[in-house]
Amino acid sequence: MSNYSLDTKCVQGGYTAGNGEPRQIPIIQSTTFKYDTSENMGRLFDLEAEGYFYSRLQNPTCDYVAKKICELEGGCAAMLTGSGQAANFYAVFNIANCGDHVVASNSIYGGTYNLFAVTMKKMGIDFTFINPDCTEEELNAAFRENTKAVFGETIANPALTVLDIEKFAKAAHAHGVPFIIDNTFATPVNCRPIEWGADIVTHSTTKYMDGHAAGIGGCIVDAGRFDWMAHADKFPGLCTPDDSYHGITYAEKFGNGGAFITKATAQLMRDFGSVQSPQTAFLLNMGLESLHVRMRKHCENGLAVAEFLSRHDKIAYVNYCGLPGDKYHALAEKYLPNGSCGVVSFGVKGGRTAAEKFMKHMKLGAIETHVADAKTCCLHPASATHRQMSDEELVACGVFPDLVRYSCGLEDAADLIADLAQALEQI
Ligand SMILES: *Cc1c(COP(=O)(O)O)cnc(C)c1O
Repeated sequence: MSNYSLDTKCVQGGYTAGNGEPRQIPIIQSTTFKYDTSENMGRLFDLEAEGYFYSRLQNPTCDYVAKKICELEGGCAAMLTGSGQAANFYAVFNIANCGDHVVASNSIYGGTYNLFAVTMKKMGIDFTFINPDCTEEELNAAFRENTKAVFGETIANPALTVLDIEKFAKAAHAHGVPFIIDNTFATPVNCRPIEWGADIVTHSTTKYMDGHAAGIGGCIVDAGRFDWMAHADKFPGLCTPDDSYHGITYAEKFGNGGAFITKATAQLMRDFGSVQSPQTAFLLNMGLESLHVRMRKHCENGLAVAEFLSRHDKIAYVNYCGLPGDKYHALAEKYLPNGSCGVVSFGVKGGRTAAEKFMKHMKLGAIETHVADAKTCCLHPASATHRQMSDEELVACGVFPDLVRYSCGLEDAADLIADLAQALEQI
């Protein structure tokens, strides 16, 4: 598939039907796989042969879909996970353990922030959160002796900041660690972080990739470029024998291209078991078949809505990197030349009360905690996800009391604008 364009990979990547075989990817709804001899199966357990034995580790349907996402991102190996949360947890925990440290952007998804700052902290992993707009010096100053990775989001949910990917990759590599990036909002249609130096790419496939609010899922893609053995002292999990896996040294046996995903599968998935089901992977693949077509429309609607709002006298401000006046427009022109995503955030004049009133009158935009879906949805964080916080606390974390997050679906842009206009009319 490597010679084909991204559009073709969306439709036909990952799986090619043989003579007389199903054209659509088959759903292999089986927990287990049968072998003729114990020796046959033993070779699989020793990672000496390729094949399937138990769907907690690997399943053919999931592998077809992981392979497609791998091709879209320009990676070398990939795996599906049960959720975006699981993908980010595995990606970091695969290389950072108790006593280690990770540098992360502070502009990331709230669930990821909690995972890092609270849950993984309890596991003994320390995180330094830095402003993604910091200087190179500030970024370099965040590293410690025990730093094992750098983490960021291409377009942050919900802040909509655009990450300077090259700056982050450069700092990570200067300190001998990989750069992990969550590419959920941009999708490989609009940005392929591996081309800008990222080593590991993660996704919540729940969002645009599935695209229809049908299945929770995640994915991890390895660029296959990070030289683990060159930094063997930092990554004993990859560069010394794994006693829980017959003494295999992943980086030695599978090389830079295979070590990371093989370890995450054979060790983390074996022990934690956050698998994506073959049924969900099938639905995800249906979404991927039209991802390139849908992303264009999401971006078209996002820009039309952002332009409309930015001209409206009841709107205080609009965040959308596609707008020429946006703080992140220059970074977007570099990393997202074909569009960013369909999510726009804005402030309604009149603060919290006005925003709440506005939400009530929306007809097409449904109130949901979801984003990045075919159906337009919106959220007023101050009265939903962030409702425990006082107005002062909200201002401090950049989620202003008047802020509305609006995720443009695939409806007609004129209808969305008319819906927004009538809702604004009523406040
Ligand atoms: C939603 C989201 C996640 C978490 O994904 P789930 O599939 O909900 O577990 C992680 N990162 C980003 C950027 C997200 O938007």
